[in-house]
Amino acid sequence: MEDLYHILQSDPKSTREQLKQNFKRLALQHHPDKNQCTDGSFFVKLNNAWEILGNEEMRHEYDVRWRERCTVQDLPIQEEVEFSEFYAEDCEGEEVYKYPCRCGGDFTVTETDAKLRFDIICCETCSLTIKVLYCDLSYDKHSTNSVNSTLRTDPAT
Ligand SMILES: [Zn+2]
Repeated sequence: MEDLYHILQSDPKSTREQLKQNFKRLALQHHPDKNQCTDGSFFVKLNNAWEILGNEEMRHEYDVRWRERCTVQDLPIQEEVEFSEFYAEDCEGEEVYKYPCRCGGDFTVTETDAKLRFDIICCETCSLTIKVLYCDLSYDKHSTNSVNSTLRTDPAT
């Protein structure tokens, strides 16, 4: 999970207007069309940060999650798991993503979590903690996805 306020060169006390101004300024500076040398990844991060912080509801959700993350970030991480390893499941009409824990319980990521890239997940049943790696923050999403699925041809699974 990234510090979105840091990306927008602002802080949690900034007003939406301030965030917007910073976003505009940074987006102009880092736009891939204007910067031949950048791969656009910062621009994608920037857009993502504004998409979340520019939306009052999402911003609130992010703030809550960020505080929560601060309390769990010191827990020992058992494993790092790519988000693509999670399987989708329908939970009362809402899509959630699960990854089995060795205790038989699950690590659960909600759609909102995924959008916020909430990355430190505790097992629902035991106290194990994993870190989720979100690898989709590249400028050309589709090509990376196809590379990932090409690599994922493990006959053992
Ligand atoms: Zn567990």
